[in-house]
Amino acid sequence: MTRIQPTQFRNLAARHFLGSADHRISSYVVAVLSVAVAIMAGELVTSLLQAEPIASLMLCAVIFTAWFAGFGPALLAIALALLAFHYYLVPPINSFTWKHSLFVLHVTEVPRLILFSITSFLVACVISSQKKTTEDLRRSGEDLQAAIEDQKRIEAALMASTMYLTEAQRLSRTGSFGWNVASGEIFWSEETFRIFQHDPAAKPTLEVIVQRTHPEDRVAVQKTIEHASIDGKDFDHEYRLLMPDDSVRYVHVVAHAARDASGSTEFFGAVTDVTVAREAEGKLRRSEAYLDEAQRLSHTSSWAWDVRRREFAYRSPGVYHIFGFDPDKGPVSLQAFRDRIHPEDRGRNIEAASRAIREKEVFDVIFRIVLPDGSIKRVRSVGHTVINSDGDVTELIGTHVDVTEQFEAKEKLQRAFEEIQRSEDRIRLVIDTIPTLVWRAGVDGVPDFLNQPALDYTGLTPDQAEAGWPRAFHPDDKKGMLVKWSAIRASGMPGELEARLRRFDGEYRWFLFRGVPLRDESGNIVKWYGSSTDIEDRKRTENALRQSEAYLAQAQRLSLTGTFGWRVATGENTWSAETFRIFGYDEASSATVDMVLARTHPEDRVAVRKAINRASTDQNDYDHAYRLMMPDGSVKHVRAVARATRDASGGIEFVGAVTDVTATKRAEEKLHKAQAELAHVTRVTALGELTASIAHEVNQPLAAVVANAEACLRWLDRATPDLAAARRSAEWVINDATRASEVIRRVRALANKTDVEKVPLDLNDVVRDVMVLVQRELASHRVSVRMELAPLPMILGDRVQLQQVIINLVMNGIEAMQPVTDRPRELAVRSGQDEARHALVSVTDCGIGIAADNANRLFNAFFTTKSSGLGMGLSICRSIVEAHGGRLMVSRNEGPGATFQLALPAHQEDA
Ligand code: ADP
Repeated sequence: MTRIQPTQFRNLAARHFLGSADHRISSYVVAVLSVAVAIMAGELVTSLLQAEPIASLMLCAVIFTAWFAGFGPALLAIALALLAFHYYLVPPINSFTWKHSLFVLHVTEVPRLILFSITSFLVACVISSQKKTTEDLRRSGEDLQAAIEDQKRIEAALMASTMYLTEAQRLSRTGSFGWNVASGEIFWSEETFRIFQHDPAAKPTLEVIVQRTHPEDRVAVQKTIEHASIDGKDFDHEYRLLMPDDSVRYVHVVAHAARDASGSTEFFGAVTDVTVAREAEGKLRRSEAYLDEAQRLSHTSSWAWDVRRREFAYRSPGVYHIFGFDPDKGPVSLQAFRDRIHPEDRGRNIEAASRAIREKEVFDVIFRIVLPDGSIKRVRSVGHTVINSDGDVTELIGTHVDVTEQFEAKEKLQRAFEEIQRSEDRIRLVIDTIPTLVWRAGVDGVPDFLNQPALDYTGLTPDQAEAGWPRAFHPDDKKGMLVKWSAIRASGMPGELEARLRRFDGEYRWFLFRGVPLRDESGNIVKWYGSSTDIEDRKRTENALRQSEAYLAQAQRLSLTGTFGWRVATGENTWSAETFRIFGYDEASSATVDMVLARTHPEDRVAVRKAINRASTDQNDYDHAYRLMMPDGSVKHVRAVARATRDASGGIEFVGAVTDVTATKRAEEKLHKAQAELAHVTRVTALGELTASIAHEVNQPLAAVVANAEACLRWLDRATPDLAAARRSAEWVINDATRASEVIRRVRALANKTDVEKVPLDLNDVVRDVMVLVQRELASHRVSVRMELAPLPMILGDRVQLQQVIINLVMNGIEAMQPVTDRPRELAVRSGQDEARHALVSVTDCGIGIAADNANRLFNAFFTTKSSGLGMGLSICRSIVEAHGGRLMVSRNEGPGATFQLALPAHQEDA
């Protein structure tokens, strides 16, 4: 189809406008020419035909001009025609010469000229109007033609636009509709029918719409329709359709209310199928929720920064969470976000973002967020630029990732690495500084690492170690070492070997090599690690030990002392060779406690068994002496001393010595006998000294006996014998005689007794007995006695021996006070007990005292400061007291004199 463009219209109009001036000039030219032609024609006709056609020719010129040039030129033509008449009518006629009487006209010609003027004027009028009408008619015909063409063009355009609209509706899934409320008439476009899946042939109604609506939305739709029909206002709603195939469609309806000519409401609107959009929205919402959740779980968030508007175009909820805001509590200002960034990081962030925009590159920065509670979060922000078609950066799109945990983990890892580095350095230092040779070897047994001490010791360089290590061994040990090393590797178990290793200076020293395999996860040996310890000293010590063991064995042999170990828990016994010999067993047999019992003398067996049992239960040190009955019937005296120790496992082990004391015992017995005899002699000597006292002691009761016996006789000789008094005297006689015989008995005991007989005793009684015997001695030396006896626990002892001790102490005290003349001679005898329930008896004198030099020697045999002294008294006393399990001590007094004290353990009934 041809279309006239507006520019073409403009050109035509311009041409028409410009051409009108030319046209006008040419019209007047037409007038002049047509009159000129008429004049020439008249000349021609006149000369040829002798007629005068001037008037009609002039009229023709006017008609011609009026038709072709219009009314104006026609008037010019009339004027020119009238001038032409001047040519013909004014003499000289028919000449163009200057006429003498220019306006002299024959009166007869005037009517003709007037008639011509009127006629030609009328003709010009009619002809020009006729011409104009014709022209108008032609033009309106042309206009009509143009209008028809326009109409055709519009119709074609309308058809096309209807087609476009339909196509557009189909493509945009938007149908249109009209609804006249009053008539209830509804108009639907093709697409609307399609959306509702309604037959285009059937008429759409409100019922059809409601029926098609999803049941859940039906009430709302009905309400909207009702409101629209009552209020007549625009409406806009969205609802679902339930299609015949049960699928659901979302439609969005927009309607505009208008009033028609009759004043009733009419709605025009559009219905759009927004199913795709809604489903996409749903999907988007879901994927947004997923994204949100994913971001929340991964501590990630996303954002978009509008570069031109300098504000965030988008922030995901995660951004709020990271910054410690609640996205549900409404918008948060940009400043509030900025304030949460650590002041030291703000500038860096802005700088990084600006650079990213400037250089159009990726932006990646880590910054800190300070939350109101003071805690600090580390966030990694990565962004990239969005560039528009002009090449300008319009947006920065990025993510914030909360990397606090990673950062902390990284820091921890860093620290751990540093620690590992340090500990590696330390281990390296330790490995290189421990005074042990450390090595590592491959599976083939060849070392690939030696620590510094190993290199220093052997003088090998790290490069030489691999090939040169076997040379470092003593030639005599090399073969054995290689064999053992292969055996250890073959066993796959930790192992050790001993060999001599050459020092850099050529000296060989003994080393203990220990190797341990290192296995991978599947249990294959990948390396052998080992240490080599210098055992040269240990080897030397071992040799020395072996030697000293030999000496010891010899010494044991000579001293008749064997050693033994006895583990109570396991019953394990270890005897030295000498022990086997003492018990008369072959050294090859393994020792047992029963072997000891078997050899024990039958009389001692019960005691020994008891002692063994007690030792194993009490776990106390023990020391006992007993006899053995050897297979040949000989008797051996042994003394076993053992100390209880704890072995490594915490069990009790007795370690001890058993000594064959037969010879000693015999010697002791002899000595004992000699001592007893000596003691007896001493006692007898002492008795000799005491004779006066004893005689006095015996004399006194004897004198009393005599006196009382005489008195008794006198009572009986009376005229009437006083029997009661006589009886009383006789009783006194008995008492005195008993007292005398008691003294005699004591003296006899002291003089005779040599056998020891231990019985429970009260030491106070012993003291009192002695004091009776020494009474006279005290008196003759003018010594006063102060007795301070306190109750004592019973002791187990030999009365006579203990009497001998106390007599000795008292006699020494008397003698020590012999030289004293300037002060009263006083002897104090005290008894009492200490915390350990020992019975104590002390004898204190105020005599010459003891010189410091002598204090340690008093108890030695034969030590005396007296010219007639024997020096045996205190020595015998100490033996007696110690044989009673007690102690005899001396101390110097504060004032003059000395104090001797004996302490005896209390007698235990069960002991
Ligand atoms: P003897 O009385 O025969 O000398 P003892 O063994 O009884 O032998 O005494 C040894 C020595 O101890 C005495 O010679 C004496 O020097 C000293 N001695 C003993 N008792 C006392 C005492 N009570 N005061 C001072 N010296 C004493």
